[in-house]
Amino acid sequence: MRIGIDKDVCIGAGQCALTAPSVFTQDDDGFSALLPGREDGGGDPLVREAARACPVQAITLHD
Ligand code: SF4
Repeated sequence: MRIGIDKDVCIGAGQCALTAPSVFTQDDDGFSALLPGREDGGGDPLVREAARACPVQAITLHD
């Protein structure tokens, strides 16, 4: 899986990091970032939940 984060759209709500903390974190500016080595989601089913939880649909998933 490839995870895309549109940083122009992200508002730093943090829902992704709360929902799937093994994959998403927040950078110094509060915007969503992928944890090192977890760019493919690591098979974590919570990645889909995180994409759904994002209030501005900034996360796109490509299988
Ligand atoms: S949930 Fe969406 S808006 Fe919030 S930090 Fe994650 S990608 Fe950005």
